[in-house]
Amino acid sequence: MKFQTPCIFGKEMLKDPAFLANFIQTLAQNKHLIKAKQLHSQLISAGYPLCTSLSNHLVNMYSKCGELGYAVKMFDKMTQRNLVSWTVMITGFSQNYMLSEAVKTFCLMRSYGESPTEFAFSTVIRACTSLGSVDFGRQMHGLSLKYGFACELFVGSNLANMYSKCGMIVEACKVFEELEFKDEVAWTAMIDGYAKNGEFEEAIMAYKRMVNDGVVIDQHVLSSTLDACGGLKAQSAGKCLHSLVVKLGFELEISVGNALTDMYSKVGDMGSASNVFGIDSKCRNIVSCTSLIDGYVELGRMKEALDVFVELQRHGIQPNEFTFSSLIKACANQAALEQGSQLHAQVLKFSCHRNHFISSVLVDMYGKCGLLDDSIRVFDGIEEPTEFAWNALINAFAQHGLGEKATENFDRMKNRGVKPNAITFICLLRGCSHAGLVKEGLNYFYSMEKIYGVMPREEHYSCVIDLLGRAGKLKEAEEFINKMPFEPNAFGWCSFLGACRSHGDKDRGKLAAEKLMQLEPENSGAHVLLSNIYAKEQQWEDVRALRKMMRDGNVKKLPGYSWVDIGNKTHIFGAEDWCHPQKKEIYQKLDILLDQIKNAGYTSNTESIPLDIDDYTKEKMLHHHSERIAVAFALISMPIGKPIIVKKNLRVCIDCHSALKYISKVSQRTIIVRDNSRFHHFTDGSCSCRDFW
Ligand code: ZN
Ligand code: ZN
Repeated sequence: MKFQTPCIFGKEMLKDPAFLANFIQTLAQNKHLIKAKQLHSQLISAGYPLCTSLSNHLVNMYSKCGELGYAVKMFDKMTQRNLVSWTVMITGFSQNYMLSEAVKTFCLMRSYGESPTEFAFSTVIRACTSLGSVDFGRQMHGLSLKYGFACELFVGSNLANMYSKCGMIVEACKVFEELEFKDEVAWTAMIDGYAKNGEFEEAIMAYKRMVNDGVVIDQHVLSSTLDACGGLKAQSAGKCLHSLVVKLGFELEISVGNALTDMYSKVGDMGSASNVFGIDSKCRNIVSCTSLIDGYVELGRMKEALDVFVELQRHGIQPNEFTFSSLIKACANQAALEQGSQLHAQVLKFSCHRNHFISSVLVDMYGKCGLLDDSIRVFDGIEEPTEFAWNALINAFAQHGLGEKATENFDRMKNRGVKPNAITFICLLRGCSHAGLVKEGLNYFYSMEKIYGVMPREEHYSCVIDLLGRAGKLKEAEEFINKMPFEPNAFGWCSFLGACRSHGDKDRGKLAAEKLMQLEPENSGAHVLLSNIYAKEQQWEDVRALRKMMRDGNVKKLPGYSWVDIGNKTHIFGAEDWCHPQKKEIYQKLDILLDQIKNAGYTSNTESIPLDIDDYTKEKMLHHHSERIAVAFALISMPIGKPIIVKKNLRVCIDCHSALKYISKVSQRTIIVRDNSRFHHFTDGSCSCRDFW
């Protein structure tokens, strides 16, 4: 029995080619693949002659329905192809994201001697944009000039778009200026290109010109211009655009809403940012929520950032890699271990732990929270660590004073074929600096450009100053500064000044302090360090003069404070800070501790207080430094055996460093202190920094 194809058309209808063509087009538009296939087989079984035009329609139909295999087969079988056949096939490849195939077919068409149409040009230029093959795109530009299409609207705006997306703004402008008619498409391409390349002012200028020319504004233009306002932190311009958005009725467009949220978050107007979609709006999505989180993180408002995270989960919105990495980075910077490890659990829940960005920020977070072992564990779980992950690991070792481990892992990184970048060398140099590895550090510095092709920047030079200074090589550090191709930055001078203080070099210290005061007049660090130097020399007149200078210049000494997380709460203490509800118990604990450590051999080092007062008062002041209060509080509030992690905004003073070593011994606790430059792990009477800091 012969298989009968179900007949969907009467025989008469099949005789009308115009009707057939029209019908296939309708099927293509509505993606009715099954019906289209039935019709195709009916045509074949009826022995209907498939002319070029009808074949073109079938190729187009299969491409539009996503059945590219059929389309290619059909195209290959065609005995006669015309310009439309080629254009349809190129468009088909491009619509199905087979961009290289689209470009190849374009070249093949030319080898058959066909002259490309403007549609073929537009399609291929768009493919070049997505593929990032700007060289081929440039050839297409030349060719389209030859055929007279470069100034034609679609080809021209696709060319402008390609150049601007590939960062070639000058070329983009040139094409744009030469366009015969600029309508919205070209303007959108230009403004979008500028905004994406960080040329925000140009984007806003282009927008203004577009408004002046009376071109219709659509949602794409608004989104791109809002991006530019956010980038420039141009709040009032952004607000004006917001009113226009409302006036034109685009406020419910997701892309515009996202752009508005992002703009307000970037300018720090979090109230307006969270109002864009309204709290319970269905339009809230992961993009706008991540913008909100970024905004809060930028302002250091961690709690609100986490609230948004909780809220988005309540709405059933799945967090993505950007949401996680932004939040975990914030936890790292604030050393918020509790929140950081809760986020780690969420990462595992959403199976995002294989993501390169997320795993690297987790390595960094645990390192910065003082848990080196966890940092290493996360790193070891990464299948193929990228340079970001290696940098995070090397930095974790560096911050914990394990310079040898940092260099060891740098070698591992190289052996695994991962190329170090500028950040790698900063981590590495810091590691050497904190461990006193002067020779190794200098070797890295002098080889980074020669062997690894990484140009040393300001930060690298500052690290070398720090490296030499910490090791007491002040003369070498000074010579290095004099030979530098530029003046050291504030960090460089600050390191040098700190080194001069700890090694008692008054003259060099004065020079560094003056430089630092010029660079950052409002920074109290220079004044404080210099007054320390004078105090050590008992030059009280100079100390007083410096204090007057600070008063007159309205320079305020940054108050030192420490904080410790107990449970889910962060407790912050200043020096002599007694507003805590448990102050009585803390006081008692501090006194008991002082007796205990004195019995164990501690003597106070009053040298670090730049004041002309008696030693007894100095000792009392040191005794109430914020990190000690925080440790005393943690000792009475935390279960035995748990390490105590204290964070401090300034450097730990010499006396507290010594006291904490004794406290770790008498209380049998590991105490981890993160000050503004590194970690100190105090266990059983000694510190991981081996007193080198
Ligand atoms: Zn102290
Ligand atoms: Zn230490």
